[in-house]
Amino acid sequence: MTQVTEQQILDALKQIRDPGRGQDVVALGMISGIVIKDRNVGFAIEIDPAAAEAMEPVRQACEEAVRMVPGVLSATAVLTAEREPAPAPAQQPGPGAKAALPGIDAVVAVASGKGGVGKSTVAVNLALGMAANGLEVGVLDADIYGPSMPRMLGIAGRAVSTDGKTLDPIESYGVKCMSIGLLVEEETPMIWRGPMVQGALEQMLRDVRWGPLDVMVVDMPPGTGDAQLTMAQRVPLAGAVIVSTPQDIALLDARKGLAMFRRVEVPVLGFVENMSYYLCPNCGTRAEIFSHGGAREAAAALGVDFLGEVPLDMEIRETSDDGRPIVVSRPDSPHAKVFREIATRVADQLAGDAEADRPAPRIVTE
Ligand code: ADP
Repeated sequence: MTQVTEQQILDALKQIRDPGRGQDVVALGMISGIVIKDRNVGFAIEIDPAAAEAMEPVRQACEEAVRMVPGVLSATAVLTAEREPAPAPAQQPGPGAKAALPGIDAVVAVASGKGGVGKSTVAVNLALGMAANGLEVGVLDADIYGPSMPRMLGIAGRAVSTDGKTLDPIESYGVKCMSIGLLVEEETPMIWRGPMVQGALEQMLRDVRWGPLDVMVVDMPPGTGDAQLTMAQRVPLAGAVIVSTPQDIALLDARKGLAMFRRVEVPVLGFVENMSYYLCPNCGTRAEIFSHGGAREAAAALGVDFLGEVPLDMEIRETSDDGRPIVVSRPDSPHAKVFREIATRVADQLAGDAEADRPAPRIVTE
């Protein structure tokens, strides 16, 4: 099977005209971000936001045209528009500045230097642990490319708007959740460009009826790239929790996360070591598979608090992947206790209570 090329896609799209301007969408420079993956094609069509409704048939025609290209399995087009800059009276924060979120006392990011370390698992159990400790909690899934909060919180529905302007979050196990996964089909391949990602994040933060919250837990996209930096800059973060596994070589990735938050002056509340040790469910023996303790040592060396270690455990995996995280499905288990303790430490940090028993930070020169 020959490869589908970008040129073939563009040739197909040249048949489609913008009805308003008469020329074809390629000539008008409206097509961008073409991605071809396993014969599935995605691309964006840049439009004037005022014409969104009129452009829907064009979007469909573009998809249809691309679908007809030999070898193409599926085609997905999204309409995009650079957001119009909001009118900025003098007292409004400038671009990149952090505007406080009314009714939300503290926003905490859960971040990791790379994917697959259990960041989302920790985020969801941390949020539920805080709720179990009596706090009003919201969970914002900022992972636009790979949202996992709906699945982990067992949410199948779609977010709706009751007033036509703002979205209602979906509540599960007593926490309110908003995620891109509640807005679009999970299986739909989406192409997101920088401004769209930012727009989606801003909307999920500000155009959602969160109601009064003690804490909003933000499940950050993995890594320390642009999306994370934007998030860290744009969201009024009270602090960040960095999740790492012991086998990350010398926790280099976690250090990158620390450096990123320090650069944008967001306090790092501490490290969590995930998949830290293995507690044998049969005999109770604790096995330290990946020479655990790296995160604790790195935290001490970097002058960051250590928030706790979460074991590698089948039940933690099964419950979070099945939408019934261990903190709610097995509240009496030792693992649930670990998460509740981490939740307590994070809440203490936010309240500033932990000042007293924090080890004096060692001065490190980088
Ligand atoms: P990330 O958000 O860092 O990409 P996830 O939270 O999605 O990572 O976790 C990746 C996988 O590892 C999931 O299948 C999850 O259930 C599993 N997992 C996470 N933490 C643990 C743990 N402590 N023990 C066993 N499995 C875990």
